Order: sequence, then C-alpha cells, then structure tokens
Amino acid sequence: MSVQESYLRCIACEQEAEHVVVYAGRFVSEIQCAGCGAVTRLDVSEDYLPDLRQRISSKPGRLMRRLRRDPGELATSLPVRTLSKPLRMAGEFRTVWRSRRAR
Ligand SMILES: [Zn+2]
Repeated sequence: MSVQESYLRCIACEQEAEHVVVYAGRFVSEIQCAGCGAVTRLDVSEDYLPDLRQRISSKPGRLMRRLRRDPGELATSLPVRTLSKPLRMAGEFRTVWRSRRAR
C-alpha cells in the first residue's frame, strides 16, 4: 500500500483541494479530501486480489511455459541473474529439465 498526494476536485465539497490518495497495488482504494475531510473508499478487492495473484505468478508462469517449449533455448538465452537469483526457480528448472530427459 502506498500513499500519494494529488490535487483533485472533491466530489463532496466540490472544491479543488489536496487529496490523499491511498493505493493498494496499482488500484486506488481510498481518497481523502484535505479541505473537508471527506473520504471516498473504493472496493478494490475484486480487482486487487486477482491482480496480486497474477503479479506473483505471472513471471514463473511465463518462464515455465517457455521452459516446456524449449528448455535448451531458455537456458542459453536467459540472463544468468534470472536463474541464479530465485533459488526456488532454479530448483524448478532442474526438476523440469530432469523430467524432460527421463521421457
Ligand atoms: Zn472536500
């Protein structure tokens, strides 16, 4: 969660005023008018939770799809950093590679 200040037109007092904007991920979850104090809350849970899950899973997912398609190509084209940094991913890579060789 992050907080930003923005100059917006308040929907409650209809003044141009500083607003405190609270973010959940990339979604605005709360806006507070510094002029009148009115708080607008937006329910982002339906958007935020799938987005969070996607953010967490998209990278390994893409990697594993490429891995299934052509592990040799992936091993030579990936930057070393990408494989060595997350050790769990390197373990997955070895597991998938072993399962491929066994076939
Ligand atoms: Zn206001």
